[in-house]
Amino acid sequence: MDPVGHYMLSWLLGRRMNIEKNAYRALLIGSLLPDGDVVVLILGYDFLLQHHSTISHSYILWLLAAVMISIALKSRSIFPYLVLGVYLHITADILLNSGLIFKGGVWCLWPFSQAKCLLAYNTDIPFKAFRFVYASLEIFFYSAAAYFVLKKQYPWQIWLRTEEEKS
Ligand SMILES: [Zn+2]
Repeated sequence: MDPVGHYMLSWLLGRRMNIEKNAYRALLIGSLLPDGDVVVLILGYDFLLQHHSTISHSYILWLLAAVMISIALKSRSIFPYLVLGVYLHITADILLNSGLIFKGGVWCLWPFSQAKCLLAYNTDIPFKAFRFVYASLEIFFYSAAAYFVLKKQYPWQIWLRTEEEKS
């Protein structure tokens, strides 16, 4: 999914979970972190195509990274939400990322394996069906974002200070 899809998936889940602000923020940040590897675009588009969704989509790496981030921020409470956000991202990519732009599949088990984890590789369901579901979900998440913006319940509100925090 694209960043809007990943963000909205976690944003909608966070709304349902009714969690405290920093946990919600950790969930949202976690949902975007794995695609941070797109910074390698500075090394060229071909390099990005080869290396996107490799080690940055490892369940194992992010579990360790989440431990270190939680320790560095001295906040144990964010740990499960950071992991949840990252794991939602990686799992969504495994289920749906069937190579619309990038080569499908992620290195979900790195460093133990560089096998590409992708549901579409392990079923007889045609890639077209995965792409249809992918496109449908993207439309759903963009529509959800537009719906909540029209209701003035902005998906980015969680990043702004409330009136109580300002005073
Ligand atoms: Zn991804």
